[in-house]
Amino acid sequence: MPSERWKISVSGIVQGVGFRPFVYRLALARGLKGFVANTPDGVALEVQGQTAQLEDFLVALREEAPPLAQVGEISSAPIPLCHDGEFTLRHSTASGPVSTLISPDVAVCEDCLAEFFSPADRRFRYPFINCTNCGPRYTIVERIPYDRPHTTMRGFAMCGPCQREYDDPANRRFHAQPNCCPDCGPQLSLVEADGQQVAVREEVLGEVLRRLEAGEIVAVKGVGGFHLAVDAANSQAVQRLRQRKGREAKPLAVMVPDLAMARKVCRLEALEEQALVSQERPIVLAAKNVGHGLADEIAPGYDQFGLMLPYAPLHQLLLQGSARVLVMTSANRSEEPICIENDEAVQRLNGIADCFLLHDRGIHLPCDDSVVALQAGMIRQVRRSRGFAPKPIGLAEAGAMVLGVGAELKNTVCLLKEKQAFCSQHIGDLKNLEAYRVFQQSLSQLAALFEITPTLIVHDLHPQYLSSRWAQEQTVPTLAVQHHHAHLAACLAENRQDGPAIGIILDGTGYGPDQTIWGGEVLLGDACGYQRFSSLEALPLPGGDAAVQAPWRTALSYLHAAYGDNLPDLPFLMGHECGPILAMVEKGVNSPLTSSCGRLFDAVAAMSGGRQIIQYEAQAAIELMQMAGGRLGKEGFPCEVYEENAMLKISVRSLIRAVANAVQSGMAQSEISRKFHAGLVAVFTRVAEEARRRENINTVALSGGVFQNRLLLEGMAASLGSSGFQVLFHKELPCNDACISLGQAVIGREAFKKR
Ligand code: ZN
Ligand code: ZN
Ligand code: FE
Repeated sequence: MPSERWKISVSGIVQGVGFRPFVYRLALARGLKGFVANTPDGVALEVQGQTAQLEDFLVALREEAPPLAQVGEISSAPIPLCHDGEFTLRHSTASGPVSTLISPDVAVCEDCLAEFFSPADRRFRYPFINCTNCGPRYTIVERIPYDRPHTTMRGFAMCGPCQREYDDPANRRFHAQPNCCPDCGPQLSLVEADGQQVAVREEVLGEVLRRLEAGEIVAVKGVGGFHLAVDAANSQAVQRLRQRKGREAKPLAVMVPDLAMARKVCRLEALEEQALVSQERPIVLAAKNVGHGLADEIAPGYDQFGLMLPYAPLHQLLLQGSARVLVMTSANRSEEPICIENDEAVQRLNGIADCFLLHDRGIHLPCDDSVVALQAGMIRQVRRSRGFAPKPIGLAEAGAMVLGVGAELKNTVCLLKEKQAFCSQHIGDLKNLEAYRVFQQSLSQLAALFEITPTLIVHDLHPQYLSSRWAQEQTVPTLAVQHHHAHLAACLAENRQDGPAIGIILDGTGYGPDQTIWGGEVLLGDACGYQRFSSLEALPLPGGDAAVQAPWRTALSYLHAAYGDNLPDLPFLMGHECGPILAMVEKGVNSPLTSSCGRLFDAVAAMSGGRQIIQYEAQAAIELMQMAGGRLGKEGFPCEVYEENAMLKISVRSLIRAVANAVQSGMAQSEISRKFHAGLVAVFTRVAEEARRRENINTVALSGGVFQNRLLLEGMAASLGSSGFQVLFHKELPCNDACISLGQAVIGREAFKKR
């Protein structure tokens, strides 16, 4: 048999994930000679052996790659034979910076779990067990290159046995930076609310399980931050958690020990089960089962639970008590970032947690649990954070290094480099100093990890957002981008499409260049620019943000817009003091105009007997959607469209009149919801068809937080699809404002080309 020698290069996430040792083992098993090394672009190798073996090796390189690796392109070419006697693992070959892609944090792997549960293993029940295939990454890295002294593990010197694993290319822990064991690694401690330490190491768990069983609230330090844990079957405990956290009704996430328990609690589709057990271990939103056995206070008035499986070894221990399911909610005060430091947690969670389960492995960057949901046939992101960030999103083209600093709510930041977009984890609402601090930290962290120096910073058109103000303070050139244009560009970029497209962008709030609040928009355009083709009518929002909290105010204002002073006699008006609000609207005092789709949902919910005051964002809209029971009306409420100032206006007033008539005729709320959703689907389809007729564009991009409404999304996709449109939607990024930073950045790149 003839021998050949091939030069092979592999790109993708292939560094810091055990790829070289994997190649080494693969080559040894086939008796191949040669070497493997890291290069600035990935991994390079030369292998020599019989042709059939080399071909087989090439297939295995992709198909058997270690779990954390993401193999991009593999190229191979024959080169002259050499006389190396063995296969070797070389350290970095090249000069220049090594573009290591830092992996996200990954759930404990099966091999580690087997050791964890094996009494004979030296890491039996050790909560910090990890290997090259699993464990913390993004949250412990302080700077590059990704080596132990550059992580929060730097204070722990490896013991002899750990060091031998670390140095052995054939070992699963070869170059596993967080490698450690009970003799040399981090340890648990239990601290009372007053900061007194009551237990350390092995004693901690028994005590914590007893306290959970007794209904106590335990703050647990995890991978990306602290959780607050309580027994999910204990109503009183869950109520107490809500009271102390100041979180009245917003659903709380629960952690179940295994898939069997998940199936008991929720009705799960196959894709949802796959997402639950995936190495990213996100929270999966899934339909509650009848007889789920958990406290009703976990997700009152909500037809889903947010479920997750244990991802840190410590969680495995926590779920072994008699409390088989735990509420595990991010430890913070409302809307603040998740706590990460021990002292900080004990201080900030004072009055919330009864005790603190701490450890001494530092968390460098906070990272909440990610949230995903099955919508329109695919698992999609609701909150992209731990497990996903900072995995890059692939772009169609390379271009300048540009930074997008995101919007105000659900802020993320995004850096573009070559053909990749690095989106940060979920940072939160940029309204408090804590969040602003994490915003700045995440920015500098991403820029440092991926060696990106932006030549342009793109921010929202709203001058007062903290992110806009930060951008203005930098010395780098800046560009302001309209919020909904950014939504459209993000959806195109994620789908690797150039456009132009008809962007149907439905959300709560975005600052318009005409200084009204936009949010029910049909834009035509791409990353180069846009035209506002159509929008919902702009109507007054009495009290601005105050109306967001009180849907009845919006309902009253919209009714006034539709009927003038002769308001129809609707039951919901009885409970409110309408005079002052009507006076505000009539005089135009503190009543900004808005074309928001979120507010339209609020108004319809309040008018039809739904929620008058909300306890968390979008509550009224979510409850209205649930009323429909998953079905659109056969016919929607009629909604007029008219031409004004070279734009198509969608008449909110005609829709409001139709809803008012339905309420007065005694139509059931469920039917009102179905007809309202169907009406929206019909009118936006009509507007898209008109856009196609005039501009000859056949692609529709859907974006904006309102599309987290699965009934609307699925209805819209079906209707547009049957009208022959190509329909684009988000998958890797949420459709809400978390995608804004990507949209800003790609718009910035286009603008940069023209400079
Ligand atoms: Zn492992
Ligand atoms: Zn050790
Ligand atoms: Fe938005």
